[in-house]
Amino acid sequence: MSYVDEVIELVVAKNPAQPEFHQAVKEVLESLRVVVEANEEEYRKDALLERMVNPERQIMFRVPWVDDKGQVQVNTGYRVQFNSAIGPYKGGLRLHPSVNIGIIKFLGFEQIFKNSLTGLPIGGGKGGSDFDPKGKSDREVMAFCQSFMTELMKYIGADTDVPAGDIGTGAREIGFMYGQYKRLTGLYEGVLTGKGLTYGGSLARTEATGYGLLYITEEMLKCNGSDIKGKTIAVSGSGNVAIYAIQKAQQLGGKPVTCSDSTGWIYDPEGIDVALLKEVKEVKRARLTEYAAARPSAQYHEGKGVWSVKVDIALPCATQNELDLEDAKQLVANGCIAVAEGANMPTTMEATEYLQEKGVWFIPGKAANAGGVATSALEMSQNSERLSWTFEEVDGKLQNIMKNIFHSLDDAAKKYGMEGNYVAGANIAGFLKVAEAMKAQGIV
Ligand code: NDP
Repeated sequence: MSYVDEVIELVVAKNPAQPEFHQAVKEVLESLRVVVEANEEEYRKDALLERMVNPERQIMFRVPWVDDKGQVQVNTGYRVQFNSAIGPYKGGLRLHPSVNIGIIKFLGFEQIFKNSLTGLPIGGGKGGSDFDPKGKSDREVMAFCQSFMTELMKYIGADTDVPAGDIGTGAREIGFMYGQYKRLTGLYEGVLTGKGLTYGGSLARTEATGYGLLYITEEMLKCNGSDIKGKTIAVSGSGNVAIYAIQKAQQLGGKPVTCSDSTGWIYDPEGIDVALLKEVKEVKRARLTEYAAARPSAQYHEGKGVWSVKVDIALPCATQNELDLEDAKQLVANGCIAVAEGANMPTTMEATEYLQEKGVWFIPGKAANAGGVATSALEMSQNSERLSWTFEEVDGKLQNIMKNIFHSLDDAAKKYGMEGNYVAGANIAGFLKVAEAMKAQGIV
């Protein structure tokens, strides 16, 4: 049996009931076959792949807090410190009822390669809890965040592990967690990113993932003789990534016509009204029915459906496995030319393979949404030098980083005889840097 297959089997056997983690490992290792085969003897001897798929450390803890009725609630907190070969662990905190150790491990594993692709010195980690901030009062969210940080603070620090936001963890939650970290440690340091601008946050961090998604999509289209101008675009989600992807797509001359949340989706043939979407989602924290009610051109549909609309480009920006084979078939039948993942692993493996077979340009999340973590690393730099850069400075660096990411995955795909396969290119380019650093640092 090949080394890659052996390690995939081992991961499935040793990590039962973690399908998302299995999926992420398979997706990465399958596309590394050519690299692994070329170095098989050395990698086997060093157990490089076994070390790569085993987190350096996994922390699970109880998070008790008191709700507004005086009832004690108990959630589970997680931090998976996956790989620190190229820098301190870096990755977000997801607060969503679906969170479990398998989800956090899949996200942490992906984060290793994503962070490597940014070209910045950050290792891979991820964390979160099965707490659901939806429907909770500000006091309840604060009680949870303070309890969560009371335990997490033992394992993180500006030079060891720097968490950030993710689904359910926005500026409010980061603020409460940062305050508690400072109170417990007495340290005013850049231990979290995604902070507010008055206490060490970076300009352009809020916009970075969505903007970065469009910068890399534009670069990829340009290198293939096309561009965003005049293109119709389907976006899923209506959170941080989706909102700023829609905004930048419009600035580049594209026309996003959809968005969604976990209950339904909007088709707005005149183009999404970003100001209204921000008002509904960022200010009122309301459902998309409120968007439809305020906008005569918009149609609201219950359930799933953004991929059924005829578009040139699809940008999944909600959650994992939200674009399946049937959706991919519909996109292809409607003439879609490009898919770039704003979310983490939103496209199933079957759908990804189908899109690639049909010649759709496909940029995986670990490259396409790396603008968020890259700008988090820029926030860390600003915190270290006690300076704040202008929006234009940060945005300029972000544009360069996203262009460089595209070229590093394009070059890696070409070098290994898989031109145009950006999934393989991203995995190979991300992996090689981490593998080299691990080798140089010995068996640790
Ligand atoms: P938000 O919480 O701001 O928004 C998430 C959006 O996705 C919401 O519209 C939400 O709808 C929808 N959603 C969440 N879960 C589901 C589900 N199970 N089914 C359908 N819709 C769902 O998160 P972000 O925008 O920050 O994150 C979106 C994705 O991007 C995630 O995969 C995240 O890991 C990834 N990402 C985020 C980065 C960032 O900087 N924020 C960086 C890199 C990746 P509802 O409001 O109804 O819950």
